[in-house]
Amino acid sequence: MRIYKIEGRGYECNKYLILGRKNILVDPGMPEGFLPTLERIEGIVKDLDLIINTHCHYDHTGGDYLFQEHFNAPVVIHDLEVEALRRGSDVTLASLFHSKMVPPGEVVPLGEVVEELRRCGIEVVETPGHTRGSISLICGDYLITGDTLFAHGVGRWDFPTGDLETLKSSLLKLQRVIQERGISEILPGHGENAPTHTLDIESLLLEL
Ligand SMILES: [Zn+2]
Ligand SMILES: [Zn+2]
Repeated sequence: MRIYKIEGRGYECNKYLILGRKNILVDPGMPEGFLPTLERIEGIVKDLDLIINTHCHYDHTGGDYLFQEHFNAPVVIHDLEVEALRRGSDVTLASLFHSKMVPPGEVVPLGEVVEELRRCGIEVVETPGHTRGSISLICGDYLITGDTLFAHGVGRWDFPTGDLETLKSSLLKLQRVIQERGISEILPGHGENAPTHTLDIESLLLEL
C-alpha cells in the first residue's frame, strides 16, 4: 500500500491518495481545489475506485461530487452522516464557507464497505466528537485522523453534532490504537503530519 498526501490550500483539508488493492481518495476537499488535485492524482494514477470522507464538513466533502463524476467512484461516509451529505444540511457547514453543498451522485454508507476496506488493509476506527460520524483510518502503520487529531491539537467540538466528552473518549481510543498497532505517523486533515513519538495526546487532553 502506498499513501500520497496532497496538501490542502487555505481552509481546504489535506487529501490522501491510497493505492493498493483499490485506489482510494480520502477527503476530496473543496470544489476550488478540484483541478490542481485532479492533476496531482492523474500524475500518479488513472483510476479511482472509491472516495472516503472522514466526516461531512464542507472543507472535506465540497468537492466530492466533482471527483465522483470524474472517476465514477462512489463516495463513502459514516452511516450517521449519509443524510447530511445527501441533503447538504447545516451539519456540513457549507454556509460557513459561503457555499452550497452539491451532493455527490452516489453516496454509500460506510457500514456497507467496511469489510471490503479491511480486505484492502484499511481499518476504520470510529472517532466521534468533532462530528458524530467522524472516522479515522488505519493504513499499515499510518493513521489518517481527519479533524479529530492534528499534529499540535485536536478538532473543534462546538459544531453541530460535536461533543467534547465524546471527543475525549475518541482521543483515548486513538492513543490506544497508536500504541497497540505500532502507528508511526498520523496523517491529519489539516497541517503537517506528526510522527507518533512526538505526539503527546495526554497533554492535549489536559488542555481540554
Ligand atoms: Zn476540516
Ligand atoms: Zn471538520
